[in-house]
Amino acid sequence: RLSGRVELTLGAEQTAHLQKAHVLPTNDSAKYTWDVELRTEVKALFTSEGFVDRVGTDVETIGVVMSDTSFYAESGGQESDIGTLIVTAADGSVVELEVLDVQVYGGYVLHTCAALHDSQSLQGLSVHSPVTAKVNYQRRRQTAPNHTMTHVLNFALREVLGVSVDQKGSAVSFEKLRFDFGLNRGLKATELERIERQINQIISEGQTVHSQVLPLEQAQKIPGLRAVFGEVYPDPVRVISVGQDAMDGALSSVEFCGGTHILNTKEAQAFVLLEESAIAKGIRRIIGVTGTAALSAQELGDQLEVQAADLQARLQELQRKKSVDVEGLDALVTQLRKDVDAAVVSSVLKVRLRDSLESLQKSIYAIKSEALMQKVEAEALLLREQLVSLVEKGVSQAVLVVNVGSEARAIKRINDEIKSIAPNLSYLLVSADDTKVSVFAHSLQPDRLRANDWVTAALQDLPGARGGGKANTAQGSAIVGSVATNDEAGKDCQNVVMKEAVRGINQAANKFTSQLGL
Ligand SMILES: [Zn+2]
Repeated sequence: RLSGRVELTLGAEQTAHLQKAHVLPTNDSAKYTWDVELRTEVKALFTSEGFVDRVGTDVETIGVVMSDTSFYAESGGQESDIGTLIVTAADGSVVELEVLDVQVYGGYVLHTCAALHDSQSLQGLSVHSPVTAKVNYQRRRQTAPNHTMTHVLNFALREVLGVSVDQKGSAVSFEKLRFDFGLNRGLKATELERIERQINQIISEGQTVHSQVLPLEQAQKIPGLRAVFGEVYPDPVRVISVGQDAMDGALSSVEFCGGTHILNTKEAQAFVLLEESAIAKGIRRIIGVTGTAALSAQELGDQLEVQAADLQARLQELQRKKSVDVEGLDALVTQLRKDVDAAVVSSVLKVRLRDSLESLQKSIYAIKSEALMQKVEAEALLLREQLVSLVEKGVSQAVLVVNVGSEARAIKRINDEIKSIAPNLSYLLVSADDTKVSVFAHSLQPDRLRANDWVTAALQDLPGARGGGKANTAQGSAIVGSVATNDEAGKDCQNVVMKEAVRGINQAANKFTSQLGL
């Protein structure tokens, strides 16, 4: 918020200065009243150079202390209000200040401000100027449900995980809420689901959020009170209870808290638990959203669920038709997985979607695998005829081209087929898939025909070819061209390029053996 600006803070020396100058601590009781424009007076002006009675030139960031304020200063994990101060300067001109940050130091509320409009100068602002304080209540309305829901979350955690779960910290902004608690393990998906459901239940019930100020001793006896261990609370203390008046036994939550809250849980609209993770040994963190952010997360979650269900239906349709054409579906599942990973949705839903996409991918893999092996068997059958003919002719070495891709088990099946039909054949096997061509050489006369040299010679015209092996067996491969999976024209073009490469390999391999005089 203060990016690029001097940070103004009041230390003990500065608050002592204010006391000596008979400036009273700020009356901030108006911070719990909503939609007010508070008329008050500038009591002190603070710059990076110290206190000034009147602002001179070249001041861009000014700290304003007023007799009263309606602004909520950052505390209890809740970020401060922002808004504007409308000040009438000594010369009668009106200066609008943008309140960037509000902090309290020893009872003095310091509003760190800059001119709202670039054209306006802060020069001439002076102590005792009349000022109207205008909080940005729209922003506070986004912050308040996040704060109230940290209380409800605290309650829900205890309900789901047991009384031993203790709050370790929280942070509330207009965008999200963060809640840290002690636990020596991660939460199960079922626990996260119960927590999220319980909070949404409390929201939909429209429970009243009560706030009252009670003597500390009396307040500490409230049954079900959640207080942070080791925290020093003021006396009297403000008590926030959800569901019923604290003294009647709140339905959902009772906490000591000075924050600004909603009046009824339904104002939060919805709660989505975005993330649960470890931040330190034994400390977990939950991040959640409420209001429109929660509604959009739910909407996005619904869309992703529909997409996942659609892909599931497509798979079933392919299975029903006994089709093995799953490449397109595979690409869609991969893309949806990426979308799910990047999406701001309920972490519970994320786990569920990932599981279902993973099982989809497994099914697709099984179909592909089945299809590949069928293809390999078909290729092996074709190859068998060719091998029988080679054996009949008494050929001792040959280049064999198959179309089974480059998966090891496919290549192995073909090699086994060759060795069983033509055990006395030295051969160079070439197999291609969309972009990769694999070569495997087997030599029965390694003194004359070195398998590794045969592979090198076969792949010599392909840049980036790799290979290795010995004189009796060797293998190599090369990437040929590239193809965009969903582009038909690109695929056709790639097919031509690949066919050309395979033909080249075949020629180079045959040339190599004829040069050896074989
Ligand atoms: Zn609170």
